[in-house]
Amino acid sequence: MTKLIAVLPGDGIGQEIVAEAVKVLEVLKSDFGLDIEMENGLVGGTAYDATGTPLPDETMELCKRSDSILLGAVGGYKWESLDIAVRPEKGLLGLRAGLDLFANLRPAILYPQLASASTLNAEVVSGLDLMIVRELTGGIYFGQPRGVRTLENGEREGYNTLVYKESEVSRIAKVAFDIAMKRDKRVCSVDKANVLECTEMWREVMIEEAKGHPEIELSHMYVDNAAMQLVRAPKQFDVMVTTNMFGDILSDCAAMLTGSIGMLPSASLDANGKGMYEPIHGSAPDIAGQNIANPLATILSVSMMLRYSLDQSEMADKIDAAVNTVLDDGKRTADIYTDGDIKVSTSEMGDAVVAALKA
Ligand code: NAD
Repeated sequence: MTKLIAVLPGDGIGQEIVAEAVKVLEVLKSDFGLDIEMENGLVGGTAYDATGTPLPDETMELCKRSDSILLGAVGGYKWESLDIAVRPEKGLLGLRAGLDLFANLRPAILYPQLASASTLNAEVVSGLDLMIVRELTGGIYFGQPRGVRTLENGEREGYNTLVYKESEVSRIAKVAFDIAMKRDKRVCSVDKANVLECTEMWREVMIEEAKGHPEIELSHMYVDNAAMQLVRAPKQFDVMVTTNMFGDILSDCAAMLTGSIGMLPSASLDANGKGMYEPIHGSAPDIAGQNIANPLATILSVSMMLRYSLDQSEMADKIDAAVNTVLDDGKRTADIYTDGDIKVSTSEMGDAVVAALKA
């Protein structure tokens, strides 16, 4: 059955990088029989300019009836002084909440060709391929009560609540186990069970849920140790699953292991595997409109979409292989360029991936 992909380029370089990812999808459709249709929608500052809101009803309606969503990025200087309720970022948060995208997948992959881009020793990170699964709609970022109150002595006290229901933990566990089944079948659950009762329960639910996945090797790690291990020996991990806040911090740390923000895709999934796919970087207003942004994170987001939402692993493998070929050929956008490489523009990089796909 034909799958519908909502294409939301958004703002800044979002327009340029999504155009390259769409080229890749078009080739998979025309040359390899991928059965998809694409429909464009507005989000972010571009949507605000056209309609007065960063998330128009038509965009939400399009995303709800789509099988998958490809997003560029939102935000930019132009909209920074707007009221917070209509800032571009609200469009993104509205999509995540409105579509109940509770599972955030953040791979950290370091292509051996780019090992020198990392701040870590090449042999520690070369060939790194790890997936962080972060719970995205619960935990301390959403828990009630929250706020700042004034005590009787006049001193202010700030407070937030870390709260997870068993069902929230088991559904993120299932996502992590399912992903691990498509990888090396190892899941490390990261918690702080020695101090926080909530994550003690998190660990119990993980163990319970693992009983339904006997092929998976489940381990547990306290978050402080996990942070240390990520920079000491990151290749020991296959899939890490963790809470919203721990995942927020660890996934940025893991991203930086690779040294190149323009290379990393991400996915946010709902309970049925429908997902929104986007690069981890923002709209880069400092380089927007110059045809120099790296489109590979967005192209690799398409690969994740094919693998995790559209059940087209072979097509995803084709994209991954094409990206590898282009890097092997020494083609680099400015952000990953070093002396001796072939410098290419955004559109030339997209063309090179398309050519590698067709070869
Ligand atoms: P950013 O990720 O946009 O840019 C950080 C730096 O990385 C910049 O120097 C930029 O030029 C560079 N960079 C980013 N992507 C690149 C690419 N593909 N190729 C080459 N270089 C790249 O982060 P920022 O500057 O903090 O934020 C800019 C805007 O993006 C803000 O409005 C912010 O709110 C928004 N933002 C949006 C998202 C999103 O849409 N998911 C995420 C983060 C930031």
